[in-house]
Amino acid sequence: MLREVGLLLLLAFSAWSIVRYLFADGGPAVFDYIVVGGGSTGAVVAGRLGEAGYSVLVLEAGGSTQISLGGDAEPVAGKWTIFDVPLGWVQVLSDHRWSKEFQWVVPADPPPAIARGLGGCGIHNAMLYMRGRPADFAEWGAGWSWDDVLPFYKRSEDNEQFGSSPLHGTGGPVRVTTVASDELSDFFLDAFSTAGLPHVEDFNGPDRIGAGAETKSKREG
Ligand SMILES: Cc1cc2nc3c(=O)[nH]c(=O)nc-3n(C[C@H](O)[C@H](O)[C@H](O)COP(=O)(O)OP(=O)(O)OC[C@H]3O[C@@H](n4cnc5c(N)ncnc54)[C@H](O)[C@@H]3O)c2cc1C
Repeated sequence: MLREVGLLLLLAFSAWSIVRYLFADGGPAVFDYIVVGGGSTGAVVAGRLGEAGYSVLVLEAGGSTQISLGGDAEPVAGKWTIFDVPLGWVQVLSDHRWSKEFQWVVPADPPPAIARGLGGCGIHNAMLYMRGRPADFAEWGAGWSWDDVLPFYKRSEDNEQFGSSPLHGTGGPVRVTTVASDELSDFFLDAFSTAGLPHVEDFNGPDRIGAGAETKSKREG
């Protein structure tokens, strides 16, 4: 019963906050578009609409995590939060003190990591650059073939390793780089090669089964 009352109060407060925001400064604010969810998809859609000159309201259920977005989550060193640390997501997921405010509560064991915050699941900051496979899109039906989606992938990329090439692009907002090699990584790659695993140069290329250096991504700006 207490839980239901709490939920009701939370819903009422959220609705009141939205109404207060929309009617601030004496009149209803008018937007060309309202984007629900400020995750990876919502951010791109809102960004592109904004670039095209439309006014956009983004409604995101969670708060800001990264300092660059105005977040004030508990810092780990200086003014950075755990969400600013590349690959810090392992800590985020394993230690709920850092992250419970920024996760949807899902009743499952173990609970899945579904982020609630500006940036959506992108706030986990794993930074691995991995696209869907052509076969995945083929299952989606008309308008979603690999040939349909590839130009958008290329347009979004600023690929350091492969530059402007049949599968990759430059000049886009997502900077894609290769993790620098080191003695330990080279040792692992040699071991995989000795075990007969093929070397993969591009995990977004046609052959993905094997071992190779990870490519990481980060949205610029
Ligand atoms: C642990 C983890 C690591 C990952 N690592 C990588 C990686 O390295 N590389 C990679 O490419 N992909 C990675 N992914 C996948 C990637 O994060 C997702 O594919 C991507 O974030 C999906 O974007 P989305 O906008 O569809 O959904 P989300 O990013 O989940 O965004 C949805 C947003 O909507 C908000 N929302 C939901 N309901 C409402 C509502 N009613 N009102 C207001 N807001 C609402 C949520 O709070 C959330 O912020 C990872 C995912 C996880 C979970």
